[in-house]
Amino acid sequence: MDSVFASTELHGEAYLIVNGGLVEDMGCAFTSLTGYSKADFTNKKISEVMHRLFGFDLDLGNRTVSENFLFKKSHETIEVRITVYKIGKGSQKLYLFKQKTNFLLNFESSLVDKILKDNFLGVGLYSCPDFRLLKANRKYQEYIKGAWQMESNPLSLCLNEIIPGFNGSKTEALWRNAYESGETVCLKEQKTVSEEGDLRYWNESITPVSEDNRVKYIVMILDDVTENTLKRKYMEEKNEELNKAIEMKDEMLMLISHEMKTPLSIITSSIQTVEIICKNELTDKVKKYLNKIKQNSYRQLKLVNNILDNTRLDSGIFKMNKVSVDIVLLTGTIIDSISVFAERKGVKISFESTLKQSVMQTDVDIYERILLNLLSNAVKFTPEGKSIEVSIFQILMKGRPQVCIQVKDNGIGIPSDQKDLIFERFGRVNRIVTRQSEGTGIGLYLVKMLVSLLDGEITLDSKEGVGSTFSLVFPLNNAGKAPAKPARIDSASEQLVTASAIEFSDIYFGA
Ligand code: ADP
Repeated sequence: MDSVFASTELHGEAYLIVNGGLVEDMGCAFTSLTGYSKADFTNKKISEVMHRLFGFDLDLGNRTVSENFLFKKSHETIEVRITVYKIGKGSQKLYLFKQKTNFLLNFESSLVDKILKDNFLGVGLYSCPDFRLLKANRKYQEYIKGAWQMESNPLSLCLNEIIPGFNGSKTEALWRNAYESGETVCLKEQKTVSEEGDLRYWNESITPVSEDNRVKYIVMILDDVTENTLKRKYMEEKNEELNKAIEMKDEMLMLISHEMKTPLSIITSSIQTVEIICKNELTDKVKKYLNKIKQNSYRQLKLVNNILDNTRLDSGIFKMNKVSVDIVLLTGTIIDSISVFAERKGVKISFESTLKQSVMQTDVDIYERILLNLLSNAVKFTPEGKSIEVSIFQILMKGRPQVCIQVKDNGIGIPSDQKDLIFERFGRVNRIVTRQSEGTGIGLYLVKMLVSLLDGEITLDSKEGVGSTFSLVFPLNNAGKAPAKPARIDSASEQLVTASAIEFSDIYFGA
């Protein structure tokens, strides 16, 4: 230590004179630099004074020079260089404090200063590696108060003095990680609850700042996201409740539909039995009434089947059984089975194919459901005397051969602004004057789902008053050779006849 120091040289310097471990005197400039007066420190132990100034017992040991962060009486932080000189003959020492230029701490009128002052974000600046809080705006101090129930001023304290149980905690590991890697650590929606029960959520970022190639500071920035987080959590809760309610409703609907299906099936098969057994004993009047019962039972069955299929598709439990079929033959067979209904309405139905045979992998029942739905709609919405044309041809789409099945009618058409709506669940055209019942609107929604189950696409081209064309496109996958004529493909098969009767049951033929 230097031993001699001329008192004239000390003029204007910030210093403390320490004798026997006690502060004896201080320069005026020390008060200007730190805000502490002679009355604050005279006769106080130097270790105590150092604790007040630096937040810990800064013991210089044998060192004569040290650089540290000093906390002024006003809690403002500055960086100082402390040099200790031995003066006089006894144990008198002189502690000289010189402020260092520090852009981070003295950022008056800088952008950082503005961010700090407007308190929109909470900002805290820590020294490294001790994680001592050097600077914090009001918002940040409020956060500390709320999160860690700290009533006293947290400035100059280390994180382990602010956060209970910090040492060895996950939080400490995060801070160490940021400090050691030099990378920012971000934490989303961190929850704090104050003693008064005030719940807050914060997005936090812990950003290391380097000086002279070493991480010297960590800046912690807090964004109060309470409002948005609470809103999101509320929406999530509501969504969960809603999904549960929908699930329950679906289960209920499925249960009711099942319960309805059993008696309906018994009614229809009983009527069929009566028709067969009592064939010769039934008068025309009775036959007419039996027919009405049958048609209305089928109508109910159509709705029940649609609801059941709809819920099965939604819950992904729809069974599919793909086989190799000649789609031309299958389409012709289905048209044959419904021609009686078209005839009854006075609508002509024709079928034409540019392909003699087209074998593809498909599920016969699903394809039947799709086509029957399109055909029943076509008959339903085509007035007497007009016609329906079904055609099959091959096209190339995205360089691959596809088979296209078109159902074209000269019916009432669909307004262009409602073309997408009809494929939605319960989507129906909003027609003010219509002779036909518009139904429930489940049919085409199901059709669209079933078409995509078969890897196909459905499109609609329609003009109001002119007619509608529904086009189905399916990939012509390598299906191998089709069976000559599967027993299932027969227009007179009981299953197809019943399926057609059910599908056409909601059309009033005026009989
Ligand atoms: P639903 O199951 O009640 O029969 P769909 O989903 O099959 O109903 O059809 C939905 C609506 O689309 C029908 O109510 C009708 O308004 C309209 N629509 C469907 N096909 C045609 C068509 N070929 N011509 C005119 N309108 C049609």
